[in-house]
Amino acid sequence: MAVTIEQELLKAVSKRRNFAIISHPDAGKTTLTEKLLLYGGAIHEAGAVKARGEQRRVTSDWMELEKQRGISITSTVLQFTYNNYHLNLLDTPGHQDFSEDTYRTLAAADNAVMLIDAAKGLEPQTRKLFEVCKLRSLPIFTFVNKMDRPGREALELLDEIEKELGLKTYPVNYPIGNGDYFKGVFDRRLKKYHLFERVAHGSKEAPEVILSPDDPNLEKYIGDNDLLAQTQEELEILDEIGAEFNLEEIHTGKMTPVFFGSAMTNFGVRLFLESFLEYALQPTPRNSSLGQLEPTHPDFSGFVFKLQANMDPKHRDRVAFVRVCTGKFEKDMTVNHARSGKSVRLSHPQKLFAQGRESIEEAYPGDVIGLNNPGVFAIGDTIYLGQKLEYDGIPSFSPELFCYLKNPNPSKFKQFQKGITQLQEEGAIQIMYSVDDFVREPILAAVGQLQFEVVQFRMLSEYNVETNLEPLPFSVARWVVDGWEALDKVGRIFNTMTVKDGRDRPVLLFRNEWNVGQLQADHPDLKLSSIALL
Ligand code: GDP
Repeated sequence: MAVTIEQELLKAVSKRRNFAIISHPDAGKTTLTEKLLLYGGAIHEAGAVKARGEQRRVTSDWMELEKQRGISITSTVLQFTYNNYHLNLLDTPGHQDFSEDTYRTLAAADNAVMLIDAAKGLEPQTRKLFEVCKLRSLPIFTFVNKMDRPGREALELLDEIEKELGLKTYPVNYPIGNGDYFKGVFDRRLKKYHLFERVAHGSKEAPEVILSPDDPNLEKYIGDNDLLAQTQEELEILDEIGAEFNLEEIHTGKMTPVFFGSAMTNFGVRLFLESFLEYALQPTPRNSSLGQLEPTHPDFSGFVFKLQANMDPKHRDRVAFVRVCTGKFEKDMTVNHARSGKSVRLSHPQKLFAQGRESIEEAYPGDVIGLNNPGVFAIGDTIYLGQKLEYDGIPSFSPELFCYLKNPNPSKFKQFQKGITQLQEEGAIQIMYSVDDFVREPILAAVGQLQFEVVQFRMLSEYNVETNLEPLPFSVARWVVDGWEALDKVGRIFNTMTVKDGRDRPVLLFRNEWNVGQLQADHPDLKLSSIALL
């Protein structure tokens, strides 16, 4: 019997899991990614991710700035398989600098892995990214990393997550000691001890011994009775006062399953991966102008969540990354572009495997495809077949850094305007303008310093315009939800600057959160938001 497209989609979707890793620089994202790929069989020796980075730097050097800074500015997607599952890891490692892309990638993800350094606990970047996950009610899987180094107490870390993020925790595995005394973990669901042997740099999969709690060899393996007794005591406390495992709460982002391990030495990576596959959401329905669309909806559709420019300086190409939401993507298909109403042929689709870039023939919901983008696509654009639809916009988040971008050379006015308009359309940075007619310079609004450098670099290399930055003393932006009229009612506001965003919406810039609070106290009716839809 012939397989229908719905059956084909159902099967593909049930085998797909897509996620992004949220973490603070240095927590071990590169290392964990490598190990996931190692276990997925996508690479045979850990270290390949970095090696690929090195090689890429030597061979393609897509951006001079990237080379100068020795970092990879752009994030994309890695696909690998494990036990017949297709995993899509969005947001590949390497870029330490925060940018809007980091936020946007989460709009394309169905699950998030929150990676925490056991010695440091929650850190600022992790908290910010967590807020975005919370907004979307994404399931969050916590991996507490670097257990092989002296760290904070496991119970204390769990407490921090619960109190500060308001997330219930369920430790799926629980560590036996830490630092030099880290012996492995206890799998609380299957009631087994997983004891690990240290492997030098963890280049191969970690050998492990699995024992029941009543196994007479347990003490011998752990080699420290006090440690075993203490672990058992803490496990009893958890059973008594900890939350019960609740898959629905995990799926709605209210409870986080927690895993302890050490990516560097591979401790706990396989346990994590297997539980992740069991508990993570498969590609989820997405909100659109037609309502919630199931991934098994037979017509192809997707949205652009990221644009990447100039990967190859010789071609000045732009790649639009599209999250496939429904139906099946096939190479060379012609689709409708919702914003312009035009049809677009999708040729040269690409995806990234651990080993590099490959062209693709087909893709399913949950996958990400990279499309050549000759200026057609902007962030948030929907492409579709069949009935017209548009996906909900991608939120833009409160920028924290602001400066005027100045063009010191009036004869370059046209190029300057063109560059600014294009970079804005592409979503490389948010651009705002003063409401004061005398001030014509655009205000660049960024979430990370590197975004300014990228703009200046691209203005020079692509539009041949030298620019200057003039910092503004603000650190918080709030959109006025009810628009200009609501703002007029309030009258003059001190300590803020009123600007309009790329869509002429009113935005207030504040020096600090305290000033925001002050305004809200004085004008409780004025609705402010730290997020706007693109
Ligand atoms: P990223 O900035 O989050 O991508 O972090 P990296 O993966 O580059 O790791 C930052 C540093 O922490 C590197 O020196 C890693 O070798 C180290 N590291 C990562 N995971 C572990 C771990 O499990 N244990 C220890 N001891 N070090 C780790």
